[in-house]
Amino acid sequence: MQTNKNVVLHVADVHKHFGGLHALSDIDLQVKEGETHAIIGPNGAGKSTLLNVIIGRLAPSSGAVVFDGNVLTGRKPHEINQLGVARVFQTPEIFADLSVIQNVMTPAFAKRDGAFKINMFSAVENERAIREEAEHMLEDVGLIDRRETHAGALSRGDKRRLELAMCLIQKPRLLLLDEPTAGMSRHDTNTTIELLKKIKSRGMTKVIIEHDMHVVFSLADKITVLAGGRIIAEGAPDEVRGDQRVQEAYLGGAH
Ligand code: ADP
Ligand code: MG
Repeated sequence: MQTNKNVVLHVADVHKHFGGLHALSDIDLQVKEGETHAIIGPNGAGKSTLLNVIIGRLAPSSGAVVFDGNVLTGRKPHEINQLGVARVFQTPEIFADLSVIQNVMTPAFAKRDGAFKINMFSAVENERAIREEAEHMLEDVGLIDRRETHAGALSRGDKRRLELAMCLIQKPRLLLLDEPTAGMSRHDTNTTIELLKKIKSRGMTKVIIEHDMHVVFSLADKITVLAGGRIIAEGAPDEVRGDQRVQEAYLGGAH
């Protein structure tokens, strides 16, 4: 297993089978620091399986995942999260009964409480700092005007933006997004793409799983195309767009 310089995430020769079904075969993927790396492919290609292997929800049948010099394989999802890997879920996981701002503050408290013990004075100081930070995040995702709204009352698109803010406040080194625009209107999709571009300019490494090719072409530095559990193409967006195998996979697949 050889990891190149500047590679922050290395999925090294991963296989995953469910009984006789090979969901992932020979997956070797290297994501460079600061890059936006998209993984695309038709439905059933293995994208979600790959994401679940990276975040520790699924164990690979063989192979390993290495992040920033740490082997993730065998670690629990929360341990992987503590190493700086955050994920925006396909179905938003928010606290419906809490206000929007409380939702954004919660992960920051959890992280702080996990990191060190604090006294009462610094607890108050900390809460103020966390609230300010949460407000910045809500400004970034365009939800600042709704900070006191119950999160459960938000539209689907706004819930996804809220979840993104909940991820960003954790200041992850690697952000994984599973179909960030799934189920969104064209308008919400465009807003989300603009938001992801803004985050990109801050240099955070991102892996985006997407079955809609058009969403990633304007965002990704590099694209890996999966079909039938295998990598069939990899490269810059322009290289991938013109690739015969990619077009066939999409035209022939369940896209
Ligand atoms: P994608 O996200 O690209 O649509 P998935 O990773 O969800 O694809 O699925 C890849 C293949 O693995 C599909 O054939 C799917 O039916 C199968 N699969 C996914 N999860 C499981 C599971 N838990 N048990 C059995 N088969 C699964
Ligand atoms: Mg999927």
